[in-house]
Amino acid sequence: MTEPDRAAPTVLIVEDEGPLAESISYNLVREGYRVVAAGDGELALDRFRAERPSIVILDLMLPKLSGLDLCRTIRAESQVPIVMLTAKDSEADKVAGLEVGADDYVTKPFSMRELVSRVRAQLRRAEMATAGSVRRERDGTLSGGPVALDPGRHEAFVGGVPTSLTPKEFELLELLLSRKGRLLTRQFLIEEVWGPHYVGDTKTLDVHIKRLRQKLEQNPHDPRHILTVRGLGYKFLD
Ligand code: CA
Repeated sequence: MTEPDRAAPTVLIVEDEGPLAESISYNLVREGYRVVAAGDGELALDRFRAERPSIVILDLMLPKLSGLDLCRTIRAESQVPIVMLTAKDSEADKVAGLEVGADDYVTKPFSMRELVSRVRAQLRRAEMATAGSVRRERDGTLSGGPVALDPGRHEAFVGGVPTSLTPKEFELLELLLSRKGRLLTRQFLIEEVWGPHYVGDTKTLDVHIKRLRQKLEQNPHDPRHILTVRGLGYKFLD
C-alpha cells in the first residue's frame, strides 16, 4: 500500500465496532484518502478539533457522547460534510440526524462501494459550496432578516438605516449571519469573539445578544431573528 498523499482529504471515521471501522478505513485509504479514526464520541470530538478533517463518517450509536450530540456540536463549529451510519430500522434516527445537521446517511449493512461513493459526492458538494462562499465574500455584504452588514467598511444597516454596533456586537452578528440558520454553540461564539482563553463571565455573551436584539428586533422580548436554542446557543433566522 502506498503512503497517502499529504494533500489527500482527511476522513474522520467515528465508529466503535472495531472490525467495521477497520474495513471502512482500509477501503478509504485504498481510494487515496487519509484516515483518522475514533471509537467513542469524546475522542472523536478531540480528533475533529485537532485534525480538521474534510469529512466525517459518524456512527449514531456510540459510547460516551452520543452520535447525535456529537453531530450537533461539530455542526455548530463547522460546515464539514457529515455522513451518518444508521441502524436498519431506525427511521427516527435518520430524521433526527438530518435535523441536527448531518448531510447524508447510509443504512447498515452497507457496501463499501456505496459508502465510498457517498463520501466522494459529499466532498465534491462541499468543494463547490466553498467556492460559492468565497464569491459571496468578495461581493462584501452579509444579510439576513432586516440586517445588512458590510464587514469591509464595518457598516451595519437595519431596515436600510445605518445602525451603530460596538466591535464585539459587529463580530457576533457577522458570525450569526455568515452561518444563518445554523445553531452556533455558546462555546463557539465565546471563543470566536472573545478568544479561546476567555475566562470572564459567560453572561457577557447573553448581554451582547440582548443588545443586538434591542437594535434589530421589532420586539426584543419576542425575537424573530436571533433565536435562543435552550441550553446550547443561538441561531439567526431571516
Ligand atoms: Ca456503534
